Amino acid sequence: MSFFNSIGRSMQRAPRPPKRSTTPTSATFPADAQTPPAGDIQGTTQQKPLFLCSPFVDAALVKGNFKTIVMQPKYTDIMEWVAVNIFDFYQNLNLFYGVLAECCTQHSCPAMSAGSALNYTWINQDRKSVQLPAPTYIDYVMTWVQNLLDDDNTFPTKSGKDFAPTFPSTVKHVYRQLLRVFAHLYHAHYPQILHLRSEPHFNSLFAHFLAFGREYELLDIKDIKGQQGQLVAVGALWERWKEVGILES
Ligand SMILES: [Zn+2]
Repeated sequence: MSFFNSIGRSMQRAPRPPKRSTTPTSATFPADAQTPPAGDIQGTTQQKPLFLCSPFVDAALVKGNFKTIVMQPKYTDIMEWVAVNIFDFYQNLNLFYGVLAECCTQHSCPAMSAGSALNYTWINQDRKSVQLPAPTYIDYVMTWVQNLLDDDNTFPTKSGKDFAPTFPSTVKHVYRQLLRVFAHLYHAHYPQILHLRSEPHFNSLFAHFLAFGREYELLDIKDIKGQQGQLVAVGALWERWKEVGILES
């Protein structure tokens, strides 16, 4: 099954130029939860987000539950299965971001918003939590993940080379940051996704990402939903998809 082997994985890599990046760490939330983020183009914060409205909320490329496609195929190594899926999620998300990037500027998105009262902050090299414009934040995430994928010590591609013992914690870290990119794109750029008529594709990619993340315990519920007063907007999407059977309840 060549799809699952690491050579196929390395051949699909799109080169990205090296860029400065620091290692992101845990979630931090804005101190002032009452301040709505600038760049909220969905109008008032009371409005139901478009991505939760019919027919968009249930638009999908595939019907049914994602459980079957996240299951580890027989005779594959679980680390390799996780690695190849993370690679695919990253590549697909990067393609979407590439198309949406012209709408995600320092002007439109001065903060990495993901809910009406939630801006993610970045931990810089001095271990300080800083607010970054969303395009800068996303660029840091994508560059960091690309560098990890290119690093043979983290994502080994040669047969006989094992995954490092730190691999599970590294991929959880990656997963949490990719979730934030999804969360920002849904929250701030859904009109553009609709304009491109990409909502079935984007929903299916995100549902697959969530299903996989839960199956292999790469995602915490609190990262998907946020916390009281600082909810992640896509947390409602997760609840909805569980109700209609797209995701496991
Ligand atoms: Zn943006």
